[in-house]
Amino acid sequence: MSSTYDVLVIGAGINGLSTCYHLAGMGVSRIGLIEQFQLAHNRGSSHSHSRITRSAYVNAHYVRLMQLAHHQEWPRLEKDADTQLIFPTPGCFFGPPGSKYESYAKAVSEVGVDVEPLTPDEARKRFPQFRFENAAGVLHDRTAGLVAAARTIDALIRLARQNGVDIHEQTTVQSIHPEESSITVKTERGIFQTERLIVTAGAWIARLLPVVKPRVTVARQTVGYFKLAGNAETYQVGCFPVWGYFLKGEDIEYYGQPEFGCEGIKVARHITEGVDDDPDQVSDTPPPEAVEDLRNFLAAQFTAPVERFVHAERCLYTNTATEDFILDHHPDYEHITIGAGFSGHGFKFGPLTGRILASLSLNGQTDLPEFETARDLFRL
Ligand SMILES: Cc1cc2nc3c(=O)[nH]c(=O)nc-3n(C[C@H](O)[C@H](O)[C@H](O)COP(=O)(O)OP(=O)(O)OC[C@H]3O[C@@H](n4cnc5c(N)ncnc54)[C@H](O)[C@@H]3O)c2cc1C
Repeated sequence: MSSTYDVLVIGAGINGLSTCYHLAGMGVSRIGLIEQFQLAHNRGSSHSHSRITRSAYVNAHYVRLMQLAHHQEWPRLEKDADTQLIFPTPGCFFGPPGSKYESYAKAVSEVGVDVEPLTPDEARKRFPQFRFENAAGVLHDRTAGLVAAARTIDALIRLARQNGVDIHEQTTVQSIHPEESSITVKTERGIFQTERLIVTAGAWIARLLPVVKPRVTVARQTVGYFKLAGNAETYQVGCFPVWGYFLKGEDIEYYGQPEFGCEGIKVARHITEGVDDDPDQVSDTPPPEAVEDLRNFLAAQFTAPVERFVHAERCLYTNTATEDFILDHHPDYEHITIGAGFSGHGFKFGPLTGRILASLSLNGQTDLPEFETARDLFRL
C-alpha cells in the first residue's frame, strides 16, 4: 500500500487529532493520519474520562495561551462537534509558603484573569472539603472546568472522518526519511509519501525522532478513584473543584477532579522527574504503594474520611525538564513539525496546540501573538 499526502500526521492522541481538525479547517485536502493502536486506545496519554482545565498557571505566557484556548478553540470545537466538552467547576490551587503558589498568583494578576487569591480561612468557607493546612494561600480559579476527555477524542475522530482525513489505525511508523521537498514514511503496512509531516507521537517521540531524545523522558502515572464520606452531591461537577496542590519549591505535585464518568473523585500525583519508563512496557496494575500514597494525601488534605478505594488506572507523561511543551520544526527539516513533551498538562491546550502545529507546518509561523512572543519557550 502507498499513499501521498499534503500533510501526514503521526499519532491520534488529542494533539494529532486536533491538528487534523485544524488542517481541514485551513483547507488542506489530502490529510493522512497514522496511529499504531486502535483509535481512542488507552495505551498513551489522552485516554480516560476527564482532565483539568484552568487559567492559573506558573507564568503569564501560559495564562494568555489558556485564554485563547478557553475563548476561541474549545468553543469552536464544541460548536463543530455539536457537543459540550468543557464542564465549568471551580478551580482551587494551593500550596505552602515557598511553593509555586506565589508564581501562579503573580501570573494570573499580571494577565488579569478571573482568579481570586484567598486566605486559607476564606478558602475553607468556600471549599469546606479541604483543610488547607499550612497553605500560603488558595487561588480560586473561576475560569476552570473539567474537560470531558474521552468525549473530546470521540468528537475529534468523528470530525476527522467527516473531513475526509485518511486514517490508518493499527499501523506503526517504523522510520521517517526526509528528502528535499517530500518525506517518505515507512510502516509495517506500506510506504507513505507526504509534502509535510507533523509528528505528535507522545511517549514514543524519541524513538521516531532521535533529535528529540535529549529533551524528553517518559513517566507512567497512577490515577486513583476514591469515595469520600458525606453527601455524594458535594463531589459532583459544578460543586467540587478541580484542584492542584503545590509542594514546597515545586510545581503541582498532586491534583484531582470531581466525580465524572465513573465512581469516585479522581486524585493523582504529578510525576515529572526521576524516571524514564519504556512506553511499550504495558503495566496496567497500579503499584499498591502509589495507591496508598494517594489515600494518605486525601487523609491529610481533605476533611471527609476516605470511605472506599474504587479503582486506579495508568497513563503516560512525556516530560521535558522545564515542563514546557516542544512546538517547533525539526532542526534540519523545515517540512517536519514536532509537538511533544506535554509533561502532563497538554490536554487543555489540545485544540489550540492543533492550530499552532498546523500553522507552523503550513506557514512556518502562526497568527497568534500570544504564541509568537513566547516561541522561545517552545523551541526544540
Ligand atoms: C494521568 C494523566 C492526567 C493528566 N491530566 C491532565 C489534566 O488534568 N489537564 C491537562 O491539560 N492535561 C493532563 N494530562 C496531559 C495530557 O493528557 C497529555 O499532555 C496529552 O494527552 C498528550 O497528548 P498527545 O497527543 O501528545 O499524546 P498521546 O495521546 O499519547 O498520542 C500520541 C499517539 O501517537 C501514537 N504513536 C506513537 N508512536 C507511533 C508510531 N511509531 N506509529 C504510529 N502511531 C504512533 C501513540 O499510539 C499515541 O496514540 C494528563 C495526562 C495523564 C497521563
